[in-house]
Amino acid sequence: MSSNLVSDPPVIAVIGGGPAGLMAAERLAQAGLSVALFDAMPSVGRKFLLAGIGGMNITHSEAADAFVERYREAAPWVDQWLQQLNSTDLREWIHGLGIATFVGSSGRVFPTDMKAAPLLRAWLKRLRKTGVTLHTRHRWLGWDTQQQLLFATPDGPKHVQASAVVLALGGGSWARLGSDGAWQPWLQERGVAIRKLLPANCGFNLDWSPHLRQHFAGQPLKQVIARLHLSDGQTLERRGECVITLEGIEGSLIYALSAPLRDLITAQGHADLQLDLAPDRTQQQLASSLALPRNGKSLSAILRKSAGLDSLKRALVHECLSTAQRADPLQLAAGIKALPLRLTGTRPLDEAISSAGGVMREALDVQLMLKQLPGVFCAGEMLDWEAPTGGYLLTACFASGLVAANGVLDWLNNQELPE
Ligand SMILES: Cc1cc2nc3c(=O)[nH]c(=O)nc-3n(C[C@H](O)[C@H](O)[C@H](O)COP(=O)(O)OP(=O)(O)OC[C@H]3O[C@@H](n4cnc5c(N)ncnc54)[C@H](O)[C@@H]3O)c2cc1C
Repeated sequence: MSSNLVSDPPVIAVIGGGPAGLMAAERLAQAGLSVALFDAMPSVGRKFLLAGIGGMNITHSEAADAFVERYREAAPWVDQWLQQLNSTDLREWIHGLGIATFVGSSGRVFPTDMKAAPLLRAWLKRLRKTGVTLHTRHRWLGWDTQQQLLFATPDGPKHVQASAVVLALGGGSWARLGSDGAWQPWLQERGVAIRKLLPANCGFNLDWSPHLRQHFAGQPLKQVIARLHLSDGQTLERRGECVITLEGIEGSLIYALSAPLRDLITAQGHADLQLDLAPDRTQQQLASSLALPRNGKSLSAILRKSAGLDSLKRALVHECLSTAQRADPLQLAAGIKALPLRLTGTRPLDEAISSAGGVMREALDVQLMLKQLPGVFCAGEMLDWEAPTGGYLLTACFASGLVAANGVLDWLNNQELPE
């Protein structure tokens, strides 16, 4: 079966119904264009909804300079998008959907009820009112021999001709929610430069003993400082919480350092992370209290009473420090302040919160149109940038969706200029 979508005003195809694609669709429809949004899944916004399960952190309230630095090497690029939609604009946009927001103690911004579902419901209602047509269960498969968009649908293949296309296909994590990265070869075949998708905001492998795995996997490690020494002499330090897993370690503290950790592992096969298990005590204080006579008490009891370590932290001391280190108060104190953990690999991309890599900046013009494919724009996590959690991911997805849509509008206007 074949069906063509050609009309006046022209049909714009937005492929991918995550935050980036929906934002692009909204802007285009509000500009009076006829917008058809396609998604492979039975419903749109599945990853967005999942992001809302643990508390939807939609953006961050920190100052613009600090905000943009979170995008590391891609900061100058993302900055261009934030010129069109920054965190303040995004909050106003959310309020426009009838959803209130608040700033948490860490500066992170959340919808008042912390959920994504009411926001998505209100947004989809407004999109439908604006005339966006949603075509779910439409899996884009690239282009057919006539250069039309080719979709697999429950009714068979569908061929769609569009005046412009916005691809917002997501990265490569949590493939069961729709973003499976299958688009990469279709763009590469057409000369689009793509950096390999890699896990970002991900967990890491660590070779725990069977004892630690059996008794502590799944337990949170609270109030620690993680330190990472980089090859250029810089030391990165973050305070927070993480979780011990069967395979290693994950959680917000680890995600915050995941990009440099991943890069170190790529470069040298491992990354050495240090954990300060007692961040509110100095090494000197610890050493003094650990040197006091034990009066027959076990090391475990001493670590609990004198160093304030809970059972997981005590188990880590046993796991990561040698017998000789544990026997000497000075070495023990030093070990508690800088517990060595050797990370040997990232967890698989599919488990990650987000992905690094994707369509490279040099493949796109400033309006996010593919240089090799005029009229085809890209937005969202499928682009080659990464950021830590904290609302930075969604902000860049929304903003790039808007940039791509504005790019479509400019491009169409230029197409219509008289010869
Ligand atoms: C557990 C979890 C928690 C998160 N929490 C947060 C958070 O609190 N704050 C934050 O900022 N970010 C968070 N994120 C990240 C955030 O959800 C993503 O960065 C964001 O959803 C990416 O948006 P996107 O529109 O680029 O892609 P996606 O949301 O992945 O959407 C892509 C869409 O494209 C569709 N698609 C893919 N391929 C095809 C195809 N071939 N044909 C048709 N359709 C296709 C998919 O079905 C999907 O609907 C979280 C992610 C996860 C996994």
